[in-house]
Amino acid sequence: MAMAKAAARGRTFKSIEECVAALGRLEDAEPQTRALCEMNLEFFRPLGIPKKGDWLAEKKESGQTYSTYSRRMKPPLTPSKHTDTVLLVPFGKSFGEGVAQVFLPHLVEYCRAFFVGMEVVCVEKPLSLAKMQKRSNDFGHDQFLIGDIFEALNTQTRSYRKAYCRLGITMEDIYPGEEWNYVFGQAKPLERVGVFSFARHSPYFYSGLHASQVPSLKEGAGWLRASMHTMVHETCHMFGILHCVYFQCLMNGNNGPGDSAGRHSPFGTKKWGRRGVSERGRGRGGAGGRAGGGGGGVGVGGTKSKGKPLATASRPGLTLKSVTFRSQL
Ligand SMILES: [Zn+2]
Repeated sequence: MAMAKAAARGRTFKSIEECVAALGRLEDAEPQTRALCEMNLEFFRPLGIPKKGDWLAEKKESGQTYSTYSRRMKPPLTPSKHTDTVLLVPFGKSFGEGVAQVFLPHLVEYCRAFFVGMEVVCVEKPLSLAKMQKRSNDFGHDQFLIGDIFEALNTQTRSYRKAYCRLGITMEDIYPGEEWNYVFGQAKPLERVGVFSFARHSPYFYSGLHASQVPSLKEGAGWLRASMHTMVHETCHMFGILHCVYFQCLMNGNNGPGDSAGRHSPFGTKKWGRRGVSERGRGRGGAGGRAGGGGGGVGVGGTKSKGKPLATASRPGLTLKSVTFRSQL
């Protein structure tokens, strides 16, 4: 119904026919799966025409159909009993205090609920950021180069042999290269490493308060929710999923809190509905790739233009107790 209304308005980014085709052929799917995908046509809204400043207004992304994705998803690119773990890797000494320690158990549980069939392991001791390239952001806080974090993931977590993918988590602001102001996160699918930051999701970030200095978690629900979504977005990239250009979806590219895409549905149907996570494997940077130090990575959030800070995405008044987990799995 939503698709029909959008079609009637003629404002979808892709045609309704393209959106339906992106779901792939359902004839051979199990009845339960077919019902899920068909039902999602009611629940997941197609993307509208991007507005100025939106990710899709600035990036040419060809998208990824389920068929394209599933053709690539074959062993040895898929997880196996020998590589069945999503490894979460905290970075920075500030991770050992404050909100990070409150959020971490929720992040781990969310990750477990989302990636059914995978083990989720969190490295106990945060890795150091001391030797990594950094600069100062507009608020005088350290901002760390993502490429160095990727390097650390590749070299310092080798003992976790069952790790299918490795995701860095940090409370520090991050950037992929000099031409970027920031990103919320980024992943390199070929290396199956990624990173995401709590920093810009903080309701106090644009007041100049570092994430580790937030005195109260009164507004923590929106912060945590945004962090969870960025976490699984980047992790999905490591499972070979590119940005969605069909539906309002967790896998939309996003230029920040003001972006009109991806704010309604945590995940579209076209790449997730019909196979378990164990069938997923790595992909290529491809259409979602970005310039900069990440080299072929795909990410979420961020801007190249030095401009007025964007408004935050917090939801005042919510507390941690009222967090609603929006996972569709
Ligand atoms: Zn992304």
